[in-house]
Amino acid sequence: MEKETAKLEMADAVFRRGAEAFALGKYQDTIKEMTLCLSMEKAEEYQYLDTDAYNMLGMLFSFSGYETAALDYYLLALEAAQKIENISGEVSSLLNIGLLYQGCKEYSRAMSYYKRAKEVAEHDLRSHDILLLLYTSIQIAQLYCRMEQFSEARRFYTEVDNYYRIVMKDEFLLPKAILDILLAQEAGTYEKVHALAEEVTEHLQQDEQYVEQIDFYADVCELLFGYGYAKETQRILLLLSEKIKDTDFFRLKMRVGLIETDYQKIYGKEEDYKESCMRYIVLHEQYEKALHQLQRENLENVDGLQRLEEQKREFERRSICDLATGLLNKKAFRHEVEKELLEYSRATTNAMVFLDIDNFKLMNDSYGHLLGDEVIRMLADKIKTYFKDNCICGRFGGDEFTIFISKVEDILGIEEHIEKFREEFARIGFGKGSNIHATLSIGVSYNKGMRVSYQALLSCADEALEKAKEYGKNRVSFYEIKRGIHGYV
Ligand code: GH3
Ligand code: MG
Repeated sequence: MEKETAKLEMADAVFRRGAEAFALGKYQDTIKEMTLCLSMEKAEEYQYLDTDAYNMLGMLFSFSGYETAALDYYLLALEAAQKIENISGEVSSLLNIGLLYQGCKEYSRAMSYYKRAKEVAEHDLRSHDILLLLYTSIQIAQLYCRMEQFSEARRFYTEVDNYYRIVMKDEFLLPKAILDILLAQEAGTYEKVHALAEEVTEHLQQDEQYVEQIDFYADVCELLFGYGYAKETQRILLLLSEKIKDTDFFRLKMRVGLIETDYQKIYGKEEDYKESCMRYIVLHEQYEKALHQLQRENLENVDGLQRLEEQKREFERRSICDLATGLLNKKAFRHEVEKELLEYSRATTNAMVFLDIDNFKLMNDSYGHLLGDEVIRMLADKIKTYFKDNCICGRFGGDEFTIFISKVEDILGIEEHIEKFREEFARIGFGKGSNIHATLSIGVSYNKGMRVSYQALLSCADEALEKAKEYGKNRVSFYEIKRGIHGYV
């Protein structure tokens, strides 16, 4: 029992290892641990880890500049959260998707995800999670600012302020600072912007968990630069480039690199500007290479999974189907019919049709196996179109086919149907001149309200088939279990 618990807790340990690798900016290790974590069996209280692991992979891809993969993983995170009604997981996944769109400047899409996140966070009125509400309101308000809808932004800000007073959580300092900077600049309270910039810089200096927040830091830096706060921009830039230097996160490095070149162009010396451009070019080359590698690895992952699925399906298909005709094979046919026969009722009649091509060997010998194959395929196709409702159709082997018809209500109707089938098939012309014809011998047995085994029903049909051959082939013979062979056409 203890061992069992230990096994289930392991997923948590693996996740934490992955999160540490992520915090250090290690791409390969993060993927390795998170993929492992996702593949592990988890106790109920650890199911939420799937959402967190997918979200972290999403962030990893987003930071590395591979947005499509990031979106895929965020959507998986969302699905995993919804499956176990993990509200905070659902909200974080929705916010992550919103952030991704915001990063691509697709503001209206981003807004719809933020709003959905807020709706989900507000959904359970009894246990409102203030942190979630705070975070979603911040995101909505800052996006309104960027869309220059400041009155809407201020409307949401009242809510933000109320929640923030209750929680005062450091983890929201950055998104909140961004919102505050946006609003303060718009209101013309520049002293406040200075103070906020100072606060963010101090925070960044001590921040151990900066990786997850790094886009926010870059946001602050970009805003300050855009508003012309040179000194503040420079301090944050220096800190940021130092911190992400050793990570594998190319998109972030490039983002910071780009702010740096812009900064040097305006405020720096000519050689500093040139140097920062060179650094950016090298970075860009590295990024292109890394992106290729990423895409290849991710494609391999996706491909690998798809290939497995296809192999599995193909295997299943092969194991129940006759490959040449697509009909059930002998084993699968028996399995399906036995399932039907279990639903025994005195009132029902089932029919077993056993069908064999006449003189097929001779046909092969005279016209070749290819023509023989064509006849087999045509026969299978005809069977499929002729025997659909309540029918199970199989290739018994070689030139023998079986059809099980359940819940027969009109025996005479079925007999006519089978007879018509035989006649129609005999009229089909094969070969170049369409002048070669193949005929069928057919045996049919019924269980009129009697409980019978598959084997019994089949051997009666086989016996009827033997009779059809005996009486001259190209005909149908019916077997009624109680009375033995009762006739042929
Ligand atoms: P009968 O009228 O008594 O049924 O005579 P028959 O020649 O049909 O007798 P038999 O059942 O002995 O021969 C069946 C032949 O069908 C033997 C085998 O070579 C051939 N056969 C089985 N499967 C295939 C196939 O997929 N393609 C072709 N071309 N021939 C096949
Ligand atoms: Mg035959």
